[in-house]
Amino acid sequence: MRFTKLRLTGFKSFVDPTDLIIHQGLTGVVGPNGCGKSNLLEALRWVMGENRPSAMRGGGMEDVIFAGSGTRPARNFAEVSLHIDNSDRLAPSGFNDQDQLEVIRRITRDVGSAYKANAKDVRARDIQMLFADASTGAHSPALVRQGQISELINAKPKARRRILEEAAGISGLYQRRHEAELKLNGTEQNLTRVDDVIEQLA
Ligand code: ATP
Repeated sequence: MRFTKLRLTGFKSFVDPTDLIIHQGLTGVVGPNGCGKSNLLEALRWVMGENRPSAMRGGGMEDVIFAGSGTRPARNFAEVSLHIDNSDRLAPSGFNDQDQLEVIRRITRDVGSAYKANAKDVRARDIQMLFADASTGAHSPALVRQGQISELINAKPKARRRILEEAAGISGLYQRRHEAELKLNGTEQNLTRVDDVIEQLA
């Protein structure tokens, strides 16, 4: 799986549709202070399912929508689309039926976020798992934001371990274990309730 294109529309400072073509090898983004370099990285993290406003340098999730400027009115929605070359067919099952994969996330004011994968509606969790299983994702150690290196140096061992687990591609398994534990708890409670009912009937 290889990212080939990122398209931003109404996302932060990118009010008009803007394509970032990602060629094979190293891609460098250069520009003056405040031109939107970090916004590009945030768009990548956001389309992969990032849900913490703090990771988007905002107070709320809707802060990613273009807020208007002296000459342009604010937008009502923001959309980021990520094109992925899946010709190696390494995408997780459920996403692996085509050579090209396009993931879209859109946020609309007062409505919230919606995701699509190859034009089909999908849940946020499906997208987060897709990228977690592929050892990338919104929390990927490959995405290094400003100030993160010093945070890493000062991090506690537990936090450092999480980074290694993310790199090893096992963080998706933790999410699945957590969901399985919740289901197990629910089932145990149901069984207790059934026992109570049987006792009352006896
Ligand atoms: P530096 O090199 O200083 O780190 P940068 O190139 O990484 O800068 P960014 O931090 O990505 O730049 O972009 C900051 C710009 O994005 C600011 O001009 C800010 O006003 C603009 N911006 C952020 N959020 C929004 C928004 N919701 N609507 C409009 N503009 C926004």
